[in-house]
Amino acid sequence: MSSEKCFIEQTATTNILLKVTNVCSECYADLKEGSVIFYDLRGCRYICYLCHERIAPLMSSECNMDSDEPLLF
Ligand SMILES: [Zn+2]
Repeated sequence: MSSEKCFIEQTATTNILLKVTNVCSECYADLKEGSVIFYDLRGCRYICYLCHERIAPLMSSECNMDSDEPLLF
């Protein structure tokens, strides 16, 4: 029944960077305005694209993020 996701993809806005965070909560890389970031629904934090790429596959079984089609690019 669930299509629960672990992460919400967002574009970093000034508002997010000023009020929430301007660094990735995982690797502490600077987040730039306009870059793609991901909100971790379980951790209530923002992480960068690279950390999402690394973490999301590890969490996919919990979060039902597995897709039927493999992503080729
Ligand atoms: Zn990161």
